Amino acid sequence: MSVANTPCAIATYSPAYTIVPTYECFNRCTYCNFRTDPGKSPWMTLSAAENILKRLQKEKVCEILILSGEVHPHSSRRQAWFQRIYDLCKLVLALGFLPHTNAGPLSFAEMQQLKSVNVSMGLMLEQLTPKLLETVHRHAPSKLPELRLQQLEWAGELQIPFTTGLLLGIGESANDWRETLQAISNLHQRYHHIQEVILQPHSPGNQQTFDALAFDPHKLPEVIAKARQILPPDITIQIPPNLVKDERWLLSCIETGARDLGGIGPKDEVNPDYPHLQEQELREILQPAGWQLVPRLPVYPQFDSWLSEELQTVVRRWRNFVFA
Ligand code: SF4
Repeated sequence: MSVANTPCAIATYSPAYTIVPTYECFNRCTYCNFRTDPGKSPWMTLSAAENILKRLQKEKVCEILILSGEVHPHSSRRQAWFQRIYDLCKLVLALGFLPHTNAGPLSFAEMQQLKSVNVSMGLMLEQLTPKLLETVHRHAPSKLPELRLQQLEWAGELQIPFTTGLLLGIGESANDWRETLQAISNLHQRYHHIQEVILQPHSPGNQQTFDALAFDPHKLPEVIAKARQILPPDITIQIPPNLVKDERWLLSCIETGARDLGGIGPKDEVNPDYPHLQEQELREILQPAGWQLVPRLPVYPQFDSWLSEELQTVVRRWRNFVFA
């Protein structure tokens, strides 16, 4: 099966593996199931990453998601942290994979540097409402809504193909969903750089202190339908299938307008208590309902021309690659 675009009756996914440069993070979002305290998570070495990547060369993996906890922008360790992420991206490329980095808010210069070694990048907007700064984000300076909006704007200015999204069920209202979606839509209409919007339902895990139920999956199709009305048609809506347990609701999400299932790999690092369904299991759910599951690259074809010649060469190889 060759890598394809997304005509109707097709749902896509990205054959992916997540590398975590570090779990340490200076923010303390109360729903987090990922972080450790600063200094408490050893950084991934280049040789450890190389061992993992060499093993993956024998598997059907295309995207390497580089997902990192954050070192404070004013920390004396920030430069070394950033350099490690940059070097990991270069290694990923050298070994033939396509890097996509999500490392929290970056300076303009950091974002510009990472553009040269990533085919796309990402940052969840989550929710724009400032009321969350009094609750789940009380100790999370990186979750300032204006800071995150600025990241999306800089990505547009720098022509970085970008993935963002909403975290649902952390204390926001339906009106807050609309405002956040509208803000994404407005920025996309200026820069045309958003390739996907993830709608991620809050799913409680073992590490978090936020004491709230999971986002009701029955409400997800309703949010997807709203999002489809607000977002321009060239933005794909993505849902994480491991967080929508019931097959009927997964199909209902796709029928309502979600067309991508995100990166499918051995572990969901953000929601480690929710194992991914693997490609074959997803196919068995989708096919009887008339949906074909097709692998895609972490950069959508309309953005190829934004990439450097070097990155385009690697992407071209993958576009011609036969997965099976
Ligand atoms: S959710 Fe992200 S930013 Fe918040 S504490 Fe966890 S790793 Fe840090």
